[in-house]
Amino acid sequence: MKKFLYSFLIFLVSGFPLQAEIEKRNEVKPVVIIGGGVGALTSAIYLQRAGIDTLVIEGQSPGGSIAQSPNVHNWPGELEISGQDLVDKIRKQAEANGATIVTKEVTHVDFSKAPYSFTLRDVYDHDQIETIRARSCIVAVGSKPNLLGVPGESGEKGYWTRGVYSCAVCDGGLYKNKTVAVVGGGDAAILEADYLSKIAKKVYVILRSDEFRTIEALRKNELVKKSNVEILYNTKVNQIQGDGQKVTHLNLSTSKELPVDGVFVAIGAKPNSEIFTKQIDLDQNGYIRLIRDQQTSTAGVFAIGDVVDPVYKQAISAAGDGAKAAFQVEHFLASEPANLIQKGPEVKMVQASNTPSGKVEELSSQQAFYESIGTHSTPIVVDFYSPLCGPCKQLAPQLDQLATTYKGKIRFLKVNVTEFTELADSYNVFAVPTVVIFDTQGKMIDKGTGVDEINRVLKKLDKIASK
Ligand SMILES: Cc1cc2nc3c(=O)[nH]c(=O)nc-3n(C[C@H](O)[C@H](O)[C@H](O)COP(=O)(O)OP(=O)(O)OC[C@H]3O[C@@H](n4cnc5c(N)ncnc54)[C@H](O)[C@@H]3O)c2cc1C
Repeated sequence: MKKFLYSFLIFLVSGFPLQAEIEKRNEVKPVVIIGGGVGALTSAIYLQRAGIDTLVIEGQSPGGSIAQSPNVHNWPGELEISGQDLVDKIRKQAEANGATIVTKEVTHVDFSKAPYSFTLRDVYDHDQIETIRARSCIVAVGSKPNLLGVPGESGEKGYWTRGVYSCAVCDGGLYKNKTVAVVGGGDAAILEADYLSKIAKKVYVILRSDEFRTIEALRKNELVKKSNVEILYNTKVNQIQGDGQKVTHLNLSTSKELPVDGVFVAIGAKPNSEIFTKQIDLDQNGYIRLIRDQQTSTAGVFAIGDVVDPVYKQAISAAGDGAKAAFQVEHFLASEPANLIQKGPEVKMVQASNTPSGKVEELSSQQAFYESIGTHSTPIVVDFYSPLCGPCKQLAPQLDQLATTYKGKIRFLKVNVTEFTELADSYNVFAVPTVVIFDTQGKMIDKGTGVDEINRVLKKLDKIASK
């Protein structure tokens, strides 16, 4: 009731939604990044610097997993830095470049048709839900390590990041000449133990069964031979104990108390990919499957960092993926501008009845453009020009001629980019003259900039007109 009164009051004060607000809701964003970790923020920096407006939905953990690390020693350029300080710097850089970062989580995505839609929920007020749309997406939702679920591991009284970790490469350096335990019997545990054996005085490997589950028998054999490594088979950790500050020992199922300074849990991780089930291909462990580079099984949807990486799981590799995905988004947006046409209900599409006049028509308004594209029974050739451009002037008579030749079959439109800058931006027209051909559905079928490219594009008209 209180909520209703509040909404009613807001309604009285603000009246009907403003036109700007309606437009904002219907707006199709070029790209949405899901995630707020190192990978997502790196993509945002690259995209903004490429002039692409980027919205980052950072979810429940602003800064992502690295923010949990008290000390990062392997980020290039930083001898030692807390994970939180590191990610704060990257976040500031993304914001300074113009990225918008919102603390909401994505609860549902629909990648079945472009533009893609995303249901967002406020992290603090779960009743606040909205839907946004975008032409492309970078998924950077990370993964969470599987935990043992024993007392002393995590939670208020637990020693998570105070002696309990999930990444030896990240935190193992703190245990030089100390005693550590690795829990797990798979390849990850073997790798973690091997890494730690070069740093720590003693490494215990604790596994539940009587053998390792490994595809790397050689590495396992080398590990078990090491003088500072001891394997405890058929053993479980019942409790992690400490002195309030740090870990001191483990209570084992064999009733033994094992004194250790640190414990590394290596029993796998779970990618945060639930909301993408049935939307993009996942592997049997829930990692997002990549087709090529960072491209997922859905065009325009890219994935980066820990959610695609069962092996390395490092901040720097997530950042590297982020940079690569940004380039791929840029390329995708440049090659698929027709997606933008699906602007939603606010764009009134009218069924045009006029057949191509045999003349090149000058565009009068942006609205007229959207009313033309994809609503005619003939394809349309659009000439993006500027009045002071020499090559544009040279091209004009050629287009006039073609408009006459293809009268009734192909429509010709010219768009002055100095007047319709937004439209030029939408179609990634970065130089003039640029010629774009749209089919009857409004899909861009070709685009060329400069004399040679335009000639190549125009040579296709015969074939297009005869369809
Ligand atoms: C304790 C610890 C210490 C580490 N130390 C190091 C180290 O020293 N060096 C190193 O290189 N690596 C380290 N790592 C690993 C490193 O943090 C990760 O590899 C890296 O952060 C992965 O980045 P990411 O962008 O893929 O995902 P993450 O950083 O995990 O970010 C995932 C993001 O997705 C968001 N998210 C998830 N679901 C949703 C949703 N539905 N909607 C919106 N947002 C969502 C989360 O809120 C989060 O912001 C450490 C990890 C941990 C846990």
